Amino acid sequence: MTDLNKVTITGQHFINGTWTSEATDFNSINPVTNEALPYRFANASQSIVESAVVSAKQAFIKYRGITAESRAAFLEAIADEIQADIEAITQTAHLETGLPMARLQGETGRTCGQLRLFAGNLRNPIDSRYVDLANAERQPLPKPDTRLTTLPLGPVAVFGASNFPLAFSTAGGDTASALAAGCTIVVKGHPAHAATSELVSGAIERAALKCDMPAGVFNLIQGSSPEVSTQLVTSTVIKAVGFTGSLKVGRILSDLCAARPEPIPFYGELGSTNPQFILSHILEEQAESLASTQVQSMLMGHGQFCTSPGVIVAIKGNALNRYKATLAEDIAPQSAASMLSAGIASTYQSQIELLLNNSQVELIAQGESSPANHFTRPTALKVTATDFINSTEIQQEVFGPCAVLVECDDEAQMQLIAEQLEGQLTASIHGLDCELIANQDLIEAIAFNVGRLIFNQMPTGVEVCHSMNHGGPYPASTDSRTTSVGSAAMARFERPICYQNMPKTLLPQRVIEGETGVKSF
Ligand code: NAP
Repeated sequence: MTDLNKVTITGQHFINGTWTSEATDFNSINPVTNEALPYRFANASQSIVESAVVSAKQAFIKYRGITAESRAAFLEAIADEIQADIEAITQTAHLETGLPMARLQGETGRTCGQLRLFAGNLRNPIDSRYVDLANAERQPLPKPDTRLTTLPLGPVAVFGASNFPLAFSTAGGDTASALAAGCTIVVKGHPAHAATSELVSGAIERAALKCDMPAGVFNLIQGSSPEVSTQLVTSTVIKAVGFTGSLKVGRILSDLCAARPEPIPFYGELGSTNPQFILSHILEEQAESLASTQVQSMLMGHGQFCTSPGVIVAIKGNALNRYKATLAEDIAPQSAASMLSAGIASTYQSQIELLLNNSQVELIAQGESSPANHFTRPTALKVTATDFINSTEIQQEVFGPCAVLVECDDEAQMQLIAEQLEGQLTASIHGLDCELIANQDLIEAIAFNVGRLIFNQMPTGVEVCHSMNHGGPYPASTDSRTTSVGSAAMARFERPICYQNMPKTLLPQRVIEGETGVKSF
């Protein structure tokens, strides 16, 4: 254990390789005790936001020309530096988020794994290069030499997520993939874990010095006011944004990006109810174990995962009654717990209250109550398929340990729900092999509304690997063509460029004819 009294948190922003202070405005809060921690931070002023983007712009001119091997070494050095400071980082994140130490240690491993995955990609790039050789003899017109490759977009703004203080924050997937692509970064730290952001930024600073990266390759600004975020995404210097958070804020920032004189891509990962479709035969055979697995999954991280299973769809009957009985049995003894922030807890409480006051919704079970009014109770609710289909309020994501069971009269109603689903990050289908084969229309309908279709498994736990897709049709994400996890995440921060008739001596090495992996035609 590290003695946190000996770990200095300065509350400063990190700009152009230098820590910069301003008069402080806010503390980070321990969400378990609901008391202020002794760490104070400043809301970045307009001039600080401006210096951060200018620093990223100047660094981009150098960083974009750095070799893939040097970028890979930089990403690996960041992982090493985070690992070297793992105790202070995870203990601080534990204080600021209330997440268990084991989860935070796992998340650190995942963060470093992502950084190393992108380093590996740089050394063995996924092949998106094409070469069409010139043909002077072609009739009726000669064919020019054209070569397709990519360029980094430019400085990228990254918003740290409240629910992943490491893997989706300062050195998380957005930062790692944008640095891998050759972009420079301005991170807007999440105010709920600003001290963790500062420690991780320190690790990036040490890695940048070790690898001789340009000052300004990475910048951190702190803030807890919308003006900081607004100024950042509307800065003409910023060429793309990575965001994980609420639909409401994601939409505000996405609209700002689209309305700029020069619109820029906004990659928002905004959440999902991750429906669980349970087919009849498997329900008959495994009602109790399916219900217990549902409860375990929806309680992971007290439900604060974008992949938490918040909706269950099944057909009424005896087997579903057995499922509900186990759901109630497993949920009732669960303790109330704090959430990532008092704001998130209060949003959860008001959404649950609204649903409980809705005459179409029935309570199946709630976990134990707590005298601490910022603690929230796990909750399972039920509703008919017709009421679910007709109510956008009931269909909405409740971020936290809540699930709504949708009781269908028959398969036709289940199919209708699948067809009318809003865009989701994931959905699961639980079925025996024989019934999966018999339900291909249902599978197809769900597939068109999700980014990841899961068979007989729960959605929590997103594998970091080449073939992962973590995205989905709106409102799960703002661009269903991209992923925020896995190798393909890097493509979000690159754009294509075609070099026509470029002298060979000037061509980038990547697209030189004969280079391994280049597709020639
Ligand atoms: P949030 O409210 O969406 O905030 C995310 C970021 O946006 C913060 O850095 C925040 O910074 C900034 N922001 C907030 N209001 C803004 C505004 N009006 N204009 C511009 N920027 C603004 O997310 P959160 O605080 O992490 O959690 C709140 C809710 O988000 C949760 O209850 C949950 O529903 C959802 N959520 C979803 C996911 C997911 O996986 N998709 C993850 C986490 C949270 P400032 O405070 O400095 O303004």
